[in-house]
Amino acid sequence: SHGQGQPQEQKPLVPGVKAIIAVASGKGGVGKSTTAANLALAMAANGQKVGLLDADIYGPSMPRMLGISGRPVSHDGRVLEPMENYGIKVMSMGFLVAEDTPMIWRGPMVMSALQQMLRDVNWGELDVLVVDMPPGTGDAQLTMAQQVPLAGAVIVSTPQDIALLDARKGLNMFRRVDVPVLGIIENMSYFCCPNCGHRTDIFSHGGARKEADDLGMEFLGEIPLHIDIRETSDQGQPITVSQPESEHAKAYRGIAKRV
Ligand code: ADP
Repeated sequence: SHGQGQPQEQKPLVPGVKAIIAVASGKGGVGKSTTAANLALAMAANGQKVGLLDADIYGPSMPRMLGISGRPVSHDGRVLEPMENYGIKVMSMGFLVAEDTPMIWRGPMVMSALQQMLRDVNWGELDVLVVDMPPGTGDAQLTMAQQVPLAGAVIVSTPQDIALLDARKGLNMFRRVDVPVLGIIENMSYFCCPNCGHRTDIFSHGGARKEADDLGMEFLGEIPLHIDIRETSDQGQPITVSQPESEHAKAYRGIAKRV
């Protein structure tokens, strides 16, 4: 079994995995999971070997978003084989429990589930393992940030979220545990009309770029609020794979290169 509360210096690495990158947000509903999925797929499109760990244990969305159903198998009764679609390997609590099962676990159980999804899964050789973190900056997120050997973190935020300083909380959390923040992605940056292509800056747009500048952090890019992004991920075919020539897919690939 895997010890809990390991001091940070003893974080064992995951064999075969070159880098683990967290995708985090200051609060829920900003598009963290949508961004994590598209980012992982964009990294794969850019030629990397990619895994995606859905650490959003209370609200796993990767099975639906990536159109994966069924259960992971184990060949040796010890290590689980990850699920796979669109060329990336995926593990999520959503594969292990029924969709309508409420998760009422306490912190330590969540941590051991996370450790198992990290270490008792046959990830194989990966250039990058993207971890979709649970939303927010509470104790659970802090513990995760501590117990997963992260190479870095990416913060997803909306212009509103930046205005309310929620994004800054995410940043401070990673700084507290000495995980380098690789940059900010502004999601729902502006509204893109699917009919006429007109662009509307619903919230004051550009806040993330300024916030990143102020904090001496990299601004990784912006993704508009567009119905195609929501519809494709609801259908289990994220835009990066279903519309690879779209400007949104290009934007995700551009961000993936900067991470
Ligand atoms: P979080 O993981 O932060 O809770 P989700 O990724 O689940 O957020 O996104 C919340 C909702 O917003 C989903 O319905 C998703 O499809 C939608 N969404 C996320 N990003 C965009 C976007 N750029 N354009 C349109 N819809 C989006």
